[in-house]
This record gives sequence, structure tokens and C-alpha cells, in this order.
Amino acid sequence: MKIARAKEILKSQFGYDSFRMNQEQAIETILEKKDCIVLMPTGGGKSLCYQIPALMLDGLTVVISPLIALMKDQVDALRNNGVEAAFLNSTQTAKEQVKVFQSIRSGKLKLLYVAPERLLQSGDQFIDFLKSVKVSLFAIDEAHCISSWGHDFRPEYMQLAKLKFNFPGVPLIALTATADRLVRKDIIERLNIRDAAQFVSSFNRPNIFYAVEPKRNSFARLLDYLESRREESGIVYCLSRSSADSLAADLRDEGFSALAYHAGLDKEMRDGHQELFLKDEAKIIVATIAFGMGIDKSNVRFVVHMDLPKNIESYYQETGRAGRDGLQSEALLFFSWGDVNKLKGFAEVEGNRAQTEIMLKKLNTMGAFGDLKTCRRKFLLNYFSEDLTEDCGHCDNCNTEFERFDGTIIAQKALSAVYRTGQRFGLSYLIDFLRGSQAKTIRDEHKNLKTYGVGADISKNNWFDYLKDLIAQGYLAQTEGQYPTIVLTEKSEAVLKGNVQVELFKVTIKEDKENKKASLVSEVSHPYIRDLFDDLKQVRTAFARSENVPPYVVFSDATLVEFATYLPQNDSEMRKISGVGELKLQKYGADFLREIKRYCEINRLASRINLKTPKREPKKRKKRDADGNDTYSISLDMYKSGLSIEEIAESRGMAKSTIETHLIRFIQSGEVMLDDLVLERKIEPIRNAVLRLNAGFAVAPVKEFLGEDYSYAEIRAVMVTM
Ligand code: ADP
Ligand code: ZN
Repeated sequence: MKIARAKEILKSQFGYDSFRMNQEQAIETILEKKDCIVLMPTGGGKSLCYQIPALMLDGLTVVISPLIALMKDQVDALRNNGVEAAFLNSTQTAKEQVKVFQSIRSGKLKLLYVAPERLLQSGDQFIDFLKSVKVSLFAIDEAHCISSWGHDFRPEYMQLAKLKFNFPGVPLIALTATADRLVRKDIIERLNIRDAAQFVSSFNRPNIFYAVEPKRNSFARLLDYLESRREESGIVYCLSRSSADSLAADLRDEGFSALAYHAGLDKEMRDGHQELFLKDEAKIIVATIAFGMGIDKSNVRFVVHMDLPKNIESYYQETGRAGRDGLQSEALLFFSWGDVNKLKGFAEVEGNRAQTEIMLKKLNTMGAFGDLKTCRRKFLLNYFSEDLTEDCGHCDNCNTEFERFDGTIIAQKALSAVYRTGQRFGLSYLIDFLRGSQAKTIRDEHKNLKTYGVGADISKNNWFDYLKDLIAQGYLAQTEGQYPTIVLTEKSEAVLKGNVQVELFKVTIKEDKENKKASLVSEVSHPYIRDLFDDLKQVRTAFARSENVPPYVVFSDATLVEFATYLPQNDSEMRKISGVGELKLQKYGADFLREIKRYCEINRLASRINLKTPKREPKKRKKRDADGNDTYSISLDMYKSGLSIEEIAESRGMAKSTIETHLIRFIQSGEVMLDDLVLERKIEPIRNAVLRLNAGFAVAPVKEFLGEDYSYAEIRAVMVTM
């Protein structure tokens, strides 16, 4: 029952048709006043898991988040959906904070975002204050920050253990996008939520296309790549601040609107750059890997890594910033093993051998991903302990055929080099040795060996690839640690004796890959009208500017794409578009409609809303009569045959209000018209009352407000359309 109301709020306040992943289960758990932990990938929709209960529960929901930079946007977005929300953090003046406190006391506020340090400021003062008001729910965002096993430990999070102690009866929801079993266990223990239900969603991001290219002439390659994406937003990650600065400048020289973002810039500039990016006024942000959590922009179409991230967790989190609106997006990594070596220096955790080993292992796995010849998505999901049985068909490797050739001789040369030098050297040394390098690093005694220089005809890069291939196939092995050496394996002997044939991947720069990719992109792109989409973006920009919010707060790209696909022609068709809730319809509907209709008129197009098939929810169990017909449908059929509500009630021997309840069910599907159940003149007043009272789906207060003239059924009927 409650979940039905949650679903109605999902549609009326947020404009969405159905829940994603575990949203529904998490919401249900909270409404039962139980704790839970929610693990969902970035962009999965964690926020709704606490925002919807916040609206349904009596009292204030407190959201603890370390991302101060995000709070304002989150609150703006909520307010734009008609939700009373505010934040408290160090960026506000005392006066602003006082206002927030007042709104909490007045009981009007539904959601409050606070930084953990603010929550625990000046002893327990704030906690005591919260005790004096009614708190309905605590939501802990980025909950992995509480665990020292995680990759982003924050000591101030440890204090959150107090919450359960101080508010034993208040449910608590912990949310994160990265947490393996160990970290999850840690979260549960440290927050004292031992009976918490765990909801772990799939980490797959099917709308992201993963691609890796060799890191050669990467700047020229980047220019090519960006050229065909001039209208799109993207993030380019670099390892260092100086390379971020110079890359951004170089891109500007080439005519791209690119800005740098890193911790070395002063705050004002950083915020300014971020703001321009969020508002789509700068298309590209060139950022250091250290930065990133502050970017919450739903229409990032591509993420490029110029340098290697230091582990899969970071890579997945960074690429996960693409495509949060669910539209096709891409992740491109420029990869070289040189980067792996370079990063080894950073992997060292001083005075902690064990931790260093963990970091190095993670780095090597990142290298293995870069070098992968099989499905990238499979690899990533397996890393996060998820099984993907089939290749995804939507990554570069799934779209490339790798050519193999007989590499037995090459393998023999490599293996005997390892053997002759005593299995005590790393990759670079072996390559230099094989190529007969004159470098001083090569030991004199090695220069006399027969294998010295036998591989001079093969380039350094190619040797790297071949040796890595031999390791991957188990003909050689690489030891762990900071200075790994290459050693023989049990499979080596057969190669050296010439008893097996070894196949190697042909190392070619895949020239035709780009063509394939291009066609792939157009294949999966939506059949929306690009011109109209661009026009609608301008309408959106105008609203965003005048309200001083990022464009996606008005409508996301995904919503604009639906506009430009289904061409809604009136309010009720607008309501069928994902992302259009009642408040947004009121605020923006008319302007967008005007633009769509104008376009349709010029181009002689009509509504295509009937092409939109709402995602069907699993069918609810219906009440059935003795013949197996469900009672709702009987009323509907009679109604369709032209009988009035009174006549149906009479003939079925039921109350008029019962028949109305039956028919209200069919308003959303369009089988019953709202104005058949409610007098036209009453619709607006009811709608206004619901919004004004922020009533959600509580009929009683609205009835009380409107008085005798309005029936419960009329109010309920209007509510389901909001
Ligand atoms: P997360 O916090 O998990 O990274 P968000 O909560 O910011 O993700 O949600 C990402 C985007 O998905 C937002 O634009 C949000 O409005 C949208 N979204 C969330 N739930 C749904 C849903 N059930 N249907 C459609 N869109 C949704
Ligand atoms: Zn794949």
C-alpha cells in the first residue's frame, strides 16, 4: 500500500514512471522503520531511496554528505521538484544558517543536507537540537568513507557511530557506489546497524561504451576524438595539475571550450570553472584525477583518461560520471605500460608494506585492463564480483577482431633471454637486452650472451606487447612487488624445446576501429530530432540562466530527448514524458510545448506519444469476482459502454464512491478522462491545494482545506494525475 504511494510520488514529484534497481526495496525497508545499506553504481539513483521516504514520513530527513560542493545543486534540484529542502555547511553566512534553523523548527522542511563535521560541531549541540525536533530518517551518503579499508577514508565519518546511539528509533540508510564485502561489513559495524538489510545492485552501466587506445600521439588523437563531439560535454582526466593546465590551454588554442579544474587553482576560479561546465557554457573540463566528486552533471557524454588511473575503483568511478542520464556515452583510456611503471612510485604507502602491496596489486590489475584483449565490461564486473556470462557487445574489444600469428620464434627468443639472464630482471631490462641496447645499464657479462640483441628487429613497444602477451598466456610470469622480475613457468620448457607452437596477437594500430566505432554510435543513438533537441536546449538554457541553476535542474538531456522523440502536444502528453513532474510542468511546460508545437507546425509533424510504451510494472494482483473478472475492469467496461457512474453503481449494487475509486485507477492509463470524474472548474483549485499543502497523497488535509464542495474521490482523482 505504502509502496503504491511511493510510486505515485515518483511520478508526481519526480516525473518518473518506474523504480530502478533496488530503489523500491530500499524505500519499503525505510518505511518499515528498518535500517539498510544501498550499494548502487554512480548515476544509479541512490538519492531517491531517501528522498521519497523523506516526503512520506512525518518529520525531517537528515542527509549527511561530505560533498559540500554538491549540496547547493542537490537542494536546488529538489526545490525545483517542489520539495522543501535546505543545507547547512561552512560556505553559508550565519544569517543563512539561522534561516535554515527556523525552517527546521517550523516543521516545514523535509530534507536537510549537512556535512559530517557540521553535524558534530561544538560537541553535541547540533545533535541535541535535532533531538528537539522530529527526525524521521538519517541518510549517510558516500558511506564507504567510514571504512579505513575503502579508498576514501574520512576520519570525521567515524563520529557517525553516535547517531544510532542517540536516535535508536530513527531508521538509517547508508549509501555508496563502491564497497566490497569487507567495506560493507565495516560500514554496518561502525554505524551500529547490525540488522541492516543490504541492497546490492548490478554495477553494469550498459550505456557506457568502453574503449582503450595505445598512448601514442595521444594529443592528436584526442583532437580527432573531440572534433566529432563538439556539441557534447566531457571530462578529460590527467595525472598532474600542470598537464591539466597545459592541455586545457592547448585545447582552447584548437578552438574548444575547455577549462582546467584541479586543487592548485584558487577556489574562486575552480568554482567558476565548475559552474560554467555545469551550465554547459564550457564543454570540456580538464581535471586531475584527485578531483571529481564535485561533478554531478547528468549529460556528460564522454570521459577520457589521458593517463592511467591508479586502480579499477578510480577508473570505474571516473568513467561512471559519463551518461548518468542513461543516454549513450563513452569512456576512452589512453594506455601504456609506461604509465604503470610511473605510478608505482605513487603506490608506496610509507611505512606500510602490506598496504603498499595492496596498492601495487591494484595498479597491476589496472594495467591488465588496459592490455585486455577480451570484453572489458566482463573484466570490470568480474572485478566487482559480479558475473557477466556473455560478452557485452558494447566495448572496443567486443567490436574488434584480433589477429593472431605464429609467434613461436619470438617466444623462444624472449624465454631464452629470461633464462640466460637468470630470471632476475624486469621487463625494460629484458627488452633492452633483446634489442642489443648499448645502454650502460646492460651488464657487460650479458653482452657476451648469445641471445643479446636477437630481437633488434622488433620495436620496444612491440616487445612490450609480446612479453605481456606471453605473461597473459602463462609462458612467463611476473613477480609481485615494487620491482617485479620476469621468471619462467612450468609452461616455458615446452616452448624452449620447440614442442609447442605459440600464438601471439598481431600488434597493429587498429586503423579501422574508428570507423566501426562511429557506425556503432549512430546505430545505438536515439531516433530523436536533433534540430528540435537543440532548440529545446536553448529554451532550457534561458530558464537555467534566469534561475541561476545548472540546465539539468530544469530538465535533463534524457527528458529533452524524449520531447524531441515523442513530440507531446499538450499537458497530458507532457506528463507521459519521463522527468516531467507536476511542478515542472507548471513552471516550464508552456514554453517547451510552444517550441515543440512550432517545430511540428513548420515540419508538418504530429504527436508520436503513442510510440512511447511506458515501462510496465509487474501486474498487480487484482480483486476478482466469482467468474474471475476483476471488479475494477467490470466498472471500466460498463463505463466505456456509456453508462454514468450512478447507473453503474445502481446496477452493481455498490456505492457511487466505490465505482469512482474503481475508475480513478484508469485515469493514468488514459482509459478514463479526469474531467469525467471531476468538474472542469474544480481541477485547478484541487491541484493548487495539493501543492500548497504539500500534501503528497494525503487526501484528508486537502478535503479539510477545500470544504464540502469537493468529494474525496474528486481529490484523489486529481492527485493521481500530479
Ligand atoms: P547516484 O546518487 O546514485 O549517483 P542520482 O540519485 O544522482 O544517482 O540519480 C542519477 C539520475 O538518475 C538523476 O538524474 C535522477 O533523477 C535519475 N533517476 C533516479 N531514479 C530514477 C528512476 N527511477 N527513473 C528515472 N530516472 C531516475
Ligand atoms: Zn564487451
